Amino acid sequence: MRKGILVLVLTSAAASATAQQSTISDLLQKAAVKLALAAAKAAEPQTIEDQIRFCEIAAPSFKEEARGAELKRAFDQLGLQSVRIDKAGNVLGDRPGAAAHPHVVIAAHLDTVFPEGTNVKVRRDGNVLRGPGIGDDCRGLAVLVRIVQSLKDAGVTTPGTVTFVANVGEEGLGDLRGVKALFNDTMKGQIDAFVSIDGTGVHVTNVAVGSHRYRVTFKGPGGHSFGAFGLANPMGAMGRAIAKIQEMQVPQHPKTTFNVGRVGGGTSVNSIPFEAWMEVDMRSSDPASLAAVDANFQKAVDAAVTEENQRWGKAGTITVTKELVGDRPAGSTPERAPIVRAGLETAAALGFNANLGEGSTDSNLPMSLGIPAITIGGGGRGREAHALTESFDVTDAWQGAQHALLLTVALAQK
Ligand SMILES: [Zn+2]
Repeated sequence: MRKGILVLVLTSAAASATAQQSTISDLLQKAAVKLALAAAKAAEPQTIEDQIRFCEIAAPSFKEEARGAELKRAFDQLGLQSVRIDKAGNVLGDRPGAAAHPHVVIAAHLDTVFPEGTNVKVRRDGNVLRGPGIGDDCRGLAVLVRIVQSLKDAGVTTPGTVTFVANVGEEGLGDLRGVKALFNDTMKGQIDAFVSIDGTGVHVTNVAVGSHRYRVTFKGPGGHSFGAFGLANPMGAMGRAIAKIQEMQVPQHPKTTFNVGRVGGGTSVNSIPFEAWMEVDMRSSDPASLAAVDANFQKAVDAAVTEENQRWGKAGTITVTKELVGDRPAGSTPERAPIVRAGLETAAALGFNANLGEGSTDSNLPMSLGIPAITIGGGGRGREAHALTESFDVTDAWQGAQHALLLTVALAQK
């Protein structure tokens, strides 16, 4: 009674936070949930084996089929229902609850930034695993499987339904194509809450850093380096553009960034190239700052082309196209939103420290659509993600599995 009166005088946000808290502590009292959490911790060696196994199957963005097939096999083996691969290549499996809603999606991404042919063999060095993609996001995939297995072993039932998804296209030029397909087609209109397990540690990401990515192509007539000397050079224009881009000023708060990440072009050392290209990435959690750095980048490229043409006296010789190849929306889920509270409170209830943070992940898309979404870590400690020297320290990594499991159960409550 007293509790009821207390709730009446609280603001609605505080009331929902209180409701959430009692739900989570109630959940922790349930024998099946306790059993599932214990199973998730005890099976950490198996989680690590899965993490290594998934990681040793190459999965560059757009080439995720083989790793996806392995996840499909795991989903089938674990008894998930309607295990399927959608048009984009996302692997889905359902764990039906008493009702269709709330319908929660727990996802981890299949793809890596590493091109075909990269050595993906994982090496163990005491507590440290070394291999490209070992943390980002093989840890997430392994935790996904661990949640399903532990819930099954402990016989946990939920009022709502959970769909587990191993999705394609999170990294680089994948441009969130997996979650775009998931939200706009495969599960359109069905998803009430979305959690991506991406990367390592225990954290809750509720702010989406947006990004614009361009492939810029400079073209000219090209010719013999000696015989045709005097032509404007597409690579010269690109060099000028890069020099200007590197001088751009950006705000520190909100953190706004730019990077020329890849360049290419030309045919031989003794030819004036007819083409040069570069890929550029710009990011900010603030849509206005992102638009501003984008505008400065466009100006830099155009000015560089003009300068190169003027230098050689034949205006208009070099032409440029700027193709938008990546457009990840910025957005956020408010700190007071139940899903963010649940992310933090499940960690706290388990005795872990979770901070709020920002990032560029699959959650960008649902956040931009106004669908409750967060990204959490899979535990452990990752280093040098996106580098060939990527490593993962397994110390206390089970914490990530327990956090993800309890959050899954909490979100699937009425
Ligand atoms: Zn990732």
